[in-house]
Amino acid sequence: MNRRHNFNPGPAALPLEVLTQAREEAVEYGNRGMSLMEMSHRSPEVERMVEETRELLLGLLGLDDRYEALFMAGGASAQFGFIPMNLASAEAPGNYVLSGSFAEKAYLEAMRAGAAVAAASSKQTGWRAIPKLADIQLAEHAAYLHMTTNNTIEGTQLRELPDVSANVPLIGDMTSDILSRPFDYARFGLIYASAQKNLGPAGVTAVIIRRDLIERSAKADIPHIFRYDTFAQHDSLYNTPPVHAIWMMKLMLEWTRNQGSSEVLGERNARKACLLYDAIDASGGFYEGIAAAENRSMMNITWKLTDERLEASFLAQAEKNGFEGLAGHRSVGGLRASIYNAVPEESCAALASFLREFVRNHG
Ligand SMILES: *Cc1c(COP(=O)(O)O)cnc(C)c1O
Repeated sequence: MNRRHNFNPGPAALPLEVLTQAREEAVEYGNRGMSLMEMSHRSPEVERMVEETRELLLGLLGLDDRYEALFMAGGASAQFGFIPMNLASAEAPGNYVLSGSFAEKAYLEAMRAGAAVAAASSKQTGWRAIPKLADIQLAEHAAYLHMTTNNTIEGTQLRELPDVSANVPLIGDMTSDILSRPFDYARFGLIYASAQKNLGPAGVTAVIIRRDLIERSAKADIPHIFRYDTFAQHDSLYNTPPVHAIWMMKLMLEWTRNQGSSEVLGERNARKACLLYDAIDASGGFYEGIAAAENRSMMNITWKLTDERLEASFLAQAEKNGFEGLAGHRSVGGLRASIYNAVPEESCAALASFLREFVRNHG
């Protein structure tokens, strides 16, 4: 196979090692005469596999048993609804930092649950920047403060978290940068990430939640299938879970662990991002970065061609040269390269060369 340089935003690139291992183990799982996909979710094999995935994930995040990891369906978008339903109310609303269109979506869903206020917004910048931490204003009875650590569509990323009082838990949508850099995950009361960016193929969402918040969710007057305490009590096996997707996440987490450490991954991701930002910044104005320089993401690089008429030709030539997924999100336009953990450094170097060559041919 001639592997393409895959810069898709999600579903996104997976390591070839993970795909190969998945192929080898797909037909028969552990000498059991059947595949994992055919086994009961109540079987000891599946229970053990889910437990191992949970331990791997908490271990990589550096979190102890004050936290629980749950595996839920419905993507990060379902969490936009579950979080306010479980944890907020009209009297104690969720507070939202609006830093991009996914953050705004989370906020609008919480509004529908009647339980949200905006704590800060950078919408007036066209989401090019992230609100300053000093501008965050919490409501008096805030149930939590919700932040999106990496704004996938716009290409901005949080470097620091605000200091909030201990009784206002931080909630992080870390879908597009979980496990991509050293990070103090214990600053959060709840972290969620759908799998298809840094954790595997689509189909499951990891929810890492502190036990006091599980207890709080037990009071929510909502159906069991939406409640965090239901998933915690049943070890994520309350109903039939996406067994295959959880198993793929397990393979991806093992791969992540085998890369060394969060420092190794963080440094590699920084080098990858630098290759591309350097090519953009050194183009003499041929390309222009979209995100504010101080908020640039290491996961999603967004930029445009100053002469927008060349964009279609850029994309067509990129496609022909083996580069996949470079069109920007329709709401932003321009170009975007998503360089999650599984995207090799060589792909970023190849794209940086292509960027320079395109300037030579068209500049
Ligand atoms: C991709 C993404 C989402 C949406 O995830 P779904 O699994 O499609 O619901 C939400 N938030 C962020 C930060 C994302 O990157």
